[in-house]
Amino acid sequence: MDLIIGSHVSFSKDKQMLGSVIEALSYKANTFMFYTGAPQNTNRSLIDDKLTELAHNLMLNENINIKDVIVHAPYIINLANDKNYDFNIKFLKEEIKRVEKLGVSKLVLHPGSHVGLGIEAGINNIIKSLNDCLTPDTKVIICLETMAGKGSELGCTFEQLKTIIDGVKEKDKIGVCLDTCHISDAGYDLNNFDKVLEEFDNIIGLDKLKVLHINDSKNICGAKKDRHENIGYGQIGFDNLLKILYHDKLKDIPKILETPYVDTELGKLAPYKFEIQMIRDKKFNDHLINDIVLDNK
Ligand code: FE
Ligand code: FE
Ligand code: ZN
Repeated sequence: MDLIIGSHVSFSKDKQMLGSVIEALSYKANTFMFYTGAPQNTNRSLIDDKLTELAHNLMLNENINIKDVIVHAPYIINLANDKNYDFNIKFLKEEIKRVEKLGVSKLVLHPGSHVGLGIEAGINNIIKSLNDCLTPDTKVIICLETMAGKGSELGCTFEQLKTIIDGVKEKDKIGVCLDTCHISDAGYDLNNFDKVLEEFDNIIGLDKLKVLHINDSKNICGAKKDRHENIGYGQIGFDNLLKILYHDKLKDIPKILETPYVDTELGKLAPYKFEIQMIRDKKFNDHLINDIVLDNK
């Protein structure tokens, strides 16, 4: 089967998911991920069913499987902090409904930061929140993202994610999104990915892995910084990322690039078309910026 690969794309008020599909196709992607509004706030517009239908029809024509499409929850909701408990729960419940209305089945969520409450209290808050939001009727799988361990972030070890999953009652509504930049920053050495994957399988179970975020990292393994870098331009490196992208055990899992826009003479431009190209070619492109600029002229 073909590699399932795409990137983060935008979701505009006027075109909604139809615009997201069109953007993904411009990168020659066969999947994509978007926020249903700005990632840093919780202002959300109503989902327009007409646009959703047009988006679905276009996906059918272009061989994008809606099962591989991902929504990312805004990163400002923090389930580990019980201070904004009611607001968080209300927002997450509404977001789950929006994602279901769009026909998308996977929602990536940052577990949260304990902000001084301590690891155990933070994790308990996350579990309680998830149990309040997930019901037997929920159609979406919440994919907890592996985090870099910046500040008081939780979910930066496989054990912490396992503890959260163990506490969730609706087990089949919970999965994991593995982010290569984050796990490297958290201290998992991607020079030996097979060992990392084995550890993931032993602790969490490979069946729980639903999404991969493929990013290089500006920083070395264990740096806990969370600064994404373009594919092959960072400390993880092209060959290590290729091994993950083409890993036998990860064939069916959608792979999403969240690499940074590139600074060029024409302004900041998306690198995804050329990153996807070099991944498909299995050959590192050391003139990425040039190609992006030429393509935009
Ligand atoms: Fe994320
Ligand atoms: Fe990510
Ligand atoms: Zn990140």
